[in-house]
Amino acid sequence: MRVVLADLKGIGGLVTKDTVAGGYGSRLVPFSKVSRVVHYLKRRYINLPSVQMAYLAAICDREGHQVAFTRDGLLEGDVALVLSSLVDYRHETAWADQMRSRGVRVGFVGLAASKMPHLFADHADFVIRGEPEEAVLRLARGEELAGLCDSAPIMDLDTLPFPRWDLLRVNGQRRSRVAVRPNGGGFPLLSSRGCPEFCTYCPHRILADHRVRSVGNIVDELELLARTYRRPYVIFRDPLFTESRDRVLAFCDEIQARGLEVRFDVETRLDRLDVALLDKAHAAGLRAISYGVESVSPQALKRVGRRPIPEAHHREVIAHCRKLGIVTAAFYVIGFPADDWQSVAATIDFAIAMDSTFAQFKVLTPYPGTPLFTQVEAQIYESDWEKFDGFTPTFTHPNLTADELRFLLGAAYTRFYMRPSYLANLLKIQNTRVREWVTRMDRRTSARYSRIEIEKMSRSVTC
Ligand code: SF4
Repeated sequence: MRVVLADLKGIGGLVTKDTVAGGYGSRLVPFSKVSRVVHYLKRRYINLPSVQMAYLAAICDREGHQVAFTRDGLLEGDVALVLSSLVDYRHETAWADQMRSRGVRVGFVGLAASKMPHLFADHADFVIRGEPEEAVLRLARGEELAGLCDSAPIMDLDTLPFPRWDLLRVNGQRRSRVAVRPNGGGFPLLSSRGCPEFCTYCPHRILADHRVRSVGNIVDELELLARTYRRPYVIFRDPLFTESRDRVLAFCDEIQARGLEVRFDVETRLDRLDVALLDKAHAAGLRAISYGVESVSPQALKRVGRRPIPEAHHREVIAHCRKLGIVTAAFYVIGFPADDWQSVAATIDFAIAMDSTFAQFKVLTPYPGTPLFTQVEAQIYESDWEKFDGFTPTFTHPNLTADELRFLLGAAYTRFYMRPSYLANLLKIQNTRVREWVTRMDRRTSARYSRIEIEKMSRSVTC
């Protein structure tokens, strides 16, 4: 059997899928000067291949089938498996229609297909609900999948084959879209799936329970990458990589014991990091961390089931990362149900004060299948599912209008990135007199933004 795997390049803005927003994906359409720059840089440098597709490639190949991969073109095949998203589902279903008209059986996989199968059912021969590996294994072993097919989560993740990046080729390229950060991506790796936390807005925890791979199995995969590619850059896509401190310590020990030359970045919560752990992980190859701060307001966080982290701990971890040269990327969310103008302004102030290397701001999105979705369902006015993209207001907020949310989002990016100290930090300028001048310039820049904000919205985005 010839299996076509389709991770379609999204249309209209910068579309990211796979593990982004748990698999629903996101679409950034530039909405300000700063977001245009962010859009350009992300498009140019951060373009990860799909780890889900690489797993399915490995399973199909292991079962003796031919694997073809596409990002947009129509290919000959017996069956096509399409990675679904919410933000680009119309494009994906249109592609599926064309493949079916050529006699190819088409199935959808991924979080969007699992939670919103009705969006895909009329354009597919089958829709896989759940993590796809178990159902795809049945397909590869001869079962004819049809309609809505449940796929049980793999409880022992060590039993899965390693992702086959070599099979995700486009037009005979040796590898597709895989390069070395910071010049264009890296190898995504899942050392665990799901998340044991309870944030009610989070789509990462709604497909299956939290499971982890053994340290030996993860490092075996790293070793294979290190043997195949020179000093590979690995991006752990686990939502909470450092959930178990002991496991991370054992992982670092194992990398060093095997003498692997790898560099990696992880996503986590800052309360799962400390100075000693950072030292150890840095020695093993840690070069960047991404972490959710979400909001500075404990009330806003508690109402969505998220445990706040003390500010002093933020400062300590970020300062130590800076000392070690570890890049920090903080995620913030604007528009929690308990948010108002002041709490969002305080969050933006906090982001600037913490001064991570990068900051990403998004608007709270009630993703289908999350407890938050149920909570605010009656207030959702957006009927186009593709607008559930992380940047578009979709429900009537109790304290902020859609215009205010959009304005605050734009102001967050402008205030964070368009300040003299941001550039000075990037350039690692330490000279005391220059830093004093930069601080004065920051104050002037902030005052200028305040004047503009008051002109436009009658109030300033600062506390
Ligand atoms: S800690 Fe992060 S990944 Fe886990 S449930 Fe909360 S937001 Fe989701």
